[in-house]
Amino acid sequence: MFEISSTGGLLSRVLQVAPVTAESDKPLPLPERQRTDESLQVERDIADAAVLKREQVEAVADAQLQRTRDATDLTKEVERHEIDSTPAPEVAVERSLEDERLRKERAAADEVLATERLERKQSMADFLAVEREATDQDLIEERKRADTVIAARDEFLATVSHELRSYLSSLALSAQLLHKEAPTGPEGESARRHANTSRRLVTRMNRLINDLLDIGSIEAGKLSMVKREVDLSQLVTETLESFATIAQAAGVSLTAKKAAPLLAMVDPDRVLQVLANLVANAIKFTPKGGHVEVRCVRAQNEARLEVSDSGIGIPPESLTGIFARFRQVTQDRRGLGLGLHISKNIVEAHGGKLWAESTVKVGSTFIVVIPLTC
Ligand code: ADP
Repeated sequence: MFEISSTGGLLSRVLQVAPVTAESDKPLPLPERQRTDESLQVERDIADAAVLKREQVEAVADAQLQRTRDATDLTKEVERHEIDSTPAPEVAVERSLEDERLRKERAAADEVLATERLERKQSMADFLAVEREATDQDLIEERKRADTVIAARDEFLATVSHELRSYLSSLALSAQLLHKEAPTGPEGESARRHANTSRRLVTRMNRLINDLLDIGSIEAGKLSMVKREVDLSQLVTETLESFATIAQAAGVSLTAKKAAPLLAMVDPDRVLQVLANLVANAIKFTPKGGHVEVRCVRAQNEARLEVSDSGIGIPPESLTGIFARFRQVTQDRRGLGLGLHISKNIVEAHGGKLWAESTVKVGSTFIVVIPLTC
């Protein structure tokens, strides 16, 4: 049987073209690319199986032909025996010559058939090998081009966001000065209010820039992560500290229940980003007088971080959809619907899970599960 050039070597070369992570510089196959490679492999396996099946059909046909020939020979022998069981020497020679002729005819026919089959198999193997090589090459080129475009886009985004951030920090500084230099008392009230609004808008614009950069990285499969062993309950404490004033201003109580140190290999800034997103949402969607609680417990060899609120809740049909990009239950101009999508990707990049449980008008709980190191 012919060896049809397999796909493994080339396909693995195709995978090498996938983008690299900022952390490891190792090729990281994107899920879509992996799926394309898998379906290509399935298609090739089907083609190989069809070639194999054809060979099996030919073997069955050969066996059938041999049986027909054996039966013909037997019939001829019986007929000869009936005509003349002890033939004269010249008849015997005649019969033997006739048998020899038939044997040669059959051998020649077999040879023609075998050559035909051989040529067909060879050309099929050549065709598949050439065709596969061409497909793999196209795929490699296409992925290289896509990566170049992504790299150019990333560079552009990085430059623009750098510029925007420096304008925003100047703006934040001006707002701070405006607030500081405003006359004390009612005279400066309006200036202080405008300065505060400007500062809030600067914070929101900064968050938006970061979110858009993160979305770009997620799509390119290179969300940066710098992991180290961290106590997750410490991260919960930090989150609560940074949201204490915001919760107070919103009239929402913010409390925590924490277990003993929970050590995990995580990127602490990324986990803080997830907790900040969940706590900010919980405060945002909880009416005045409500409460938000962050719990942090051990569940076997995993940490379970829960952010619960007594807010407006989420209808059951939206519980999974809210984790998609730009998805909001009802349009909310305070956000873009990116935070949960980014958070889910961050948690999954840590080998964990993030999901929501909720009852409308009662409240919601967002649950993060992350594997612990010990
Ligand atoms: P956004 O910045 O718009 O809040 P998110 O991705 O963080 O984006 O959240 C997506 C949507 O999920 C929100 O707009 C809101 O509709 C819903 N949501 C998130 N958290 C809560 C919560 N704690 N209570 C009710 N709805 C929530």
